[in-house]
Amino acid sequence: MATDQPDERRFTGRLPHGSDLLASLTGFCEQNHIQHGGVRALGALSRAVVAFYDQKEQVYHEVAFDDEVELLTLAGNVSLKDGRPFVHAHVVLADRTGRAFGGHLVNGCTVFACEFAVSEWNHAPAPVRQRDPVTGLWLWP
Ligand code: ZN
Repeated sequence: MATDQPDERRFTGRLPHGSDLLASLTGFCEQNHIQHGGVRALGALSRAVVAFYDQKEQVYHEVAFDDEVELLTLAGNVSLKDGRPFVHAHVVLADRTGRAFGGHLVNGCTVFACEFAVSEWNHAPAPVRQRDPVTGLWLWP
C-alpha cells in the first residue's frame, strides 16, 4: 500500500512467514524502486543473526540465536550501493525472558511475522555508499 505525497511515498506491509528479513526488505525496495528512505518494522523471528562491528579489526562478527525472538524494533535506511537499493538496519530483539539484545542486521533472520513501514525520501538524490577509509565501513558520502 502506498500513499503518494510530493516528496515522500509511504509504504506499509507484512513480510512473508519464513522469509529472510533483510532479503525481503531489500526485495521490497527493489520492486518498488525505492532508493532513498527510512525503514521501520516489528514482529517476531524464528531465528536471528546479527552482527557486531569490531572497530579495531574493522570486521563484522556475526552472532546467531537459534531460538524464537521478538523483533522489538528495526530501524534502518535505504540508499544505493553498487547501483542497487541497499538496506542498512539495526534490530533490537528480546528472548523469552524479556531480555533485549541486538545488532546490525545481516542475512539469516527468519521471519515468523513482521509488519513494516518504508518512507521513500524524494527531497534529495539517493546517497551512494562509499567505503570510508577511517572506519572501514561503507557509508554515505
Ligand atoms: Zn550497521
